[in-house]
Amino acid sequence: MLLISACLAGVNCKYNGGSNEVDKIRKIAQEEKAILICPEQLGGLPTPRLPCEIVGGDGKKVLQGEAKVLDQNGRDQTPFFIKGAQETLKIAKLCGVQIAILKARSPSCGSGMIYDGSFQGRKKRGDGVTAALLKENGIDVFTEEE
Ligand code: SF4
Repeated sequence: MLLISACLAGVNCKYNGGSNEVDKIRKIAQEEKAILICPEQLGGLPTPRLPCEIVGGDGKKVLQGEAKVLDQNGRDQTPFFIKGAQETLKIAKLCGVQIAILKARSPSCGSGMIYDGSFQGRKKRGDGVTAALLKENGIDVFTEEE
């Protein structure tokens, strides 16, 4: 069973109301046993919403209470991101997921590399909040680019 970022399969759950559809990922979602999730929606954020980035660390630091997720206006959205990660993990455990394919560089779904909190398109090493929590719980996370 695969866990897949819903926006990669064409679901319009991206912050701007669009998707990040990748043809190959949509086909995998159609052909394999897959669960589509959007941690930011699961956490209670609306769509569309302001873009968010992790400031002061990465997803692991957010889970440890040492970094925050802020929206473009500087509003703290950290609780929504933590709740979304927890709900995603709950779904993954309920369904016996061992592999996740998540959207690269997102503050929720990014794996290995995320935007650096400057909202300038710059990147830094680290995972998004959901990717970090899934990895902590033994789930292998890949981006759509891997
Ligand atoms: S939280 Fe993840 S699934 Fe939802 S729109 Fe962002 S990248 Fe896609």
